[in-house]
Amino acid sequence: MVGRVSTAAAPAALSLIPSQEETLLREAVSGICRQFGREYMQQKRDSGGPPSELWEALASRGYMGVNIPEEYDGGGLGMAALSAVGEEIAAAGCALLLIVVSPAIVGSILVRHGTPEQKERWLRGIGAGTTKVAFAITEADAGTNSHNLATSLRRDDGRFLLNGQKTFISGVEDADAVCVVARTRTSDGGLGLPSLAIVDVDAPGFTRQQIPMAVRGADKQWTLFFDDVELEEERLVGGENGGLGVVFDGLNPERIMGASISTGIGRLALERGAAYARERRVWGQPIGAHQGVAHPLAEAKIELELARLMTQKAAALYDAGAPGAGEAANMAKYAAAEAGIHCVDRAIQAHGGNGFALEYGLSDLWWGVRVARTAPVSREMVLNYVAEHSLGLPKSY
Ligand SMILES: Cc1cc2nc3c(=O)[nH]c(=O)nc-3n(C[C@H](O)[C@H](O)[C@H](O)COP(=O)(O)OP(=O)(O)OC[C@H]3O[C@@H](n4cnc5c(N)ncnc54)[C@H](O)[C@@H]3O)c2cc1C
Repeated sequence: MVGRVSTAAAPAALSLIPSQEETLLREAVSGICRQFGREYMQQKRDSGGPPSELWEALASRGYMGVNIPEEYDGGGLGMAALSAVGEEIAAAGCALLLIVVSPAIVGSILVRHGTPEQKERWLRGIGAGTTKVAFAITEADAGTNSHNLATSLRRDDGRFLLNGQKTFISGVEDADAVCVVARTRTSDGGLGLPSLAIVDVDAPGFTRQQIPMAVRGADKQWTLFFDDVELEEERLVGGENGGLGVVFDGLNPERIMGASISTGIGRLALERGAAYARERRVWGQPIGAHQGVAHPLAEAKIELELARLMTQKAAALYDAGAPGAGEAANMAKYAAAEAGIHCVDRAIQAHGGNGFALEYGLSDLWWGVRVARTAPVSREMVLNYVAEHSLGLPKSY
């Protein structure tokens, strides 16, 4: 079981040649995913069922919690390893959004802020991949401005009551619980600091509605409704009024995983685009012999490798707890989204009309990669971050 070998977190130094451990990890994950393959994902998408068998096959070998400490049944290999797992899953055509959310965001938050009881109850299952927790911050009225979140937690008779709505929340259909960002309702009726509450998906008062999406992935997106959902205090991670700092501790892992999924999809698209350009003949030679076809693919390959490098750097810095992890994670997410989009777009172009036929497996990658420019954090908000934090420019909002 590669994911559980006993090592400490990855070193801060970036290894440019993959270690044997990383190579084995990637090969094993890729091998499992390819057994399921595109047909499996298509069937799940068409039937509406979650890709549970694939998740379980990966989890049973220890891959869905490789970043979680070994003492909580994870692999103890850090975000670098989870990022490699996420990239291989996506490169095999099986992208799973819950890996961005459950082990990366919620797992990372629990490692830093969970009480011993919360770690026992939630982190152990996340480490083993047997518990899946979705993550809900987005609200229709607040949008990117998390200071305007309106979902509330009100103290009532020794417990809390959760009220409000969230939107575009991924993977709830296959999750055991949702980690919800909500603000404390103060005695004067106002809203205080954010807290993070873990809510069971079947809690009374918690309902959801599926959002029809263009994205042709196996995971679904939901609007969530909380109507006086009762929560014990032990459900608050980081305590009442834990603040956005607790939430932000999940954001760098989220960006790193978002980047990994994008580079995985990009790899798959380029593989298909280049294979087609090598074989397809229109003027007596492969179309890839025309620079008009070859150069866009080559450019995309360069962008892809640059993005992969920045993603590896971000994961290494994060795992080492080194400064610069936030900047690198944002840059990686930006670069990977753009590279992934270019890879898919150019592979489609190289395919001519076939790029739009479902049979060639490119059009169903399009919305999955295009969404990376907007979620989990938009291109514009990453540029805002870099302008402000890397370049010292004034904040505009
Ligand atoms: C497929 C999918 C899955 C998702 N999964 C989840 C999930 O699991 N959990 C979750 O909580 N959320 C999830 N989201 C929500 C996602 O994180 C948000 O859609 C995203 O962060 C953008 O926020 P918004 O939609 O509110 O856009 P808005 O905030 O309304 O922004 C609209 C546009 O304006 C731009 N903009 C806004 N403010 C500024 C500014 N100050 N400067 C420059 N430009 C600005 C934005 O970049 C964007 O382009 C998902 C979304 C999608 C599409």
